[in-house]
Amino acid sequence: MAPPRAAFTIHRPDPALAVPLIIHVPHAGDAIPADCLADFALPRDDLQSVLAALVDHDTDRLALSALPLGAFVIVNEVSRLVVDPERYPDDADEPAAVHGMGAVYVHTHDGRRLRRPGWSAVDRAARMAAFYHPWHAAMRDLVLELQARFTAPVHIIDLHSFPVRPLPFETCCGPRPPYCLGWTDAHAPRAWLDWWDARASAVGGGLVAHNHPFAGAFVPGGLPVGAAAAVRSLMVEVRRDLLPAWPERGELPAAHERATDVRDFLAFACEDLRRRNSPDANERTSR
Ligand SMILES: [Zn+2]
Repeated sequence: MAPPRAAFTIHRPDPALAVPLIIHVPHAGDAIPADCLADFALPRDDLQSVLAALVDHDTDRLALSALPLGAFVIVNEVSRLVVDPERYPDDADEPAAVHGMGAVYVHTHDGRRLRRPGWSAVDRAARMAAFYHPWHAAMRDLVLELQARFTAPVHIIDLHSFPVRPLPFETCCGPRPPYCLGWTDAHAPRAWLDWWDARASAVGGGLVAHNHPFAGAFVPGGLPVGAAAAVRSLMVEVRRDLLPAWPERGELPAAHERATDVRDFLAFACEDLRRRNSPDANERTSR
């Protein structure tokens, strides 16, 4: 099955302003394509309530606020209930698969059966081919394009939101400050972690948690080893009370005004990469 035309969108900045930053927004989408509706065992209303619980609402518009600053933004228009591109493709590698929430969810966040009776590996493979692999291929292509074009390392900001109260499948407890930063030793942008720690210190602490309640950051699969190693990636999760309530969609400034630390961080990140990129870097592109 071919993906719908609007399965995802890559927003490109003005070439004169571009920096090697990709803001990755995998969970803002709330669309379920008509030909995917029969995948699900839940009645339509129940499906909507699951969608409301899991969508990272308004992270798309928050990310797009950095488009005029030079960032590239990729937005998944399709709900994570169809396919979740943030997961590992093989359930054997994916920790969330033990809750039935691997790349193709078979259970809801609260443990109900999500997929219809008879859902098979063939059905799963079809959805992966239509939605998962194209997303990773697009991310891979964009990373390689920007690595060829810029001297500064390609950075990914993996932008999400998380609920105020833990979801039923969460196994860890503790405080849930406004921002969760996810990263790994292999890909962490250290200077950007320092920026967040300085911001937290300036307000007396309690602003961020590292790798809690969610951990790690997205790097597309299938990159050549050296290209993958050069990617810096930081996940930024915004607590949902800082974003406009779903399903009401306020004006763009509302997200900025309520998640001001992210707005400031995106501006810092773009400026940092502009400074680190050599002045003639844009001339090196062959495109
Ligand atoms: Zn998310």
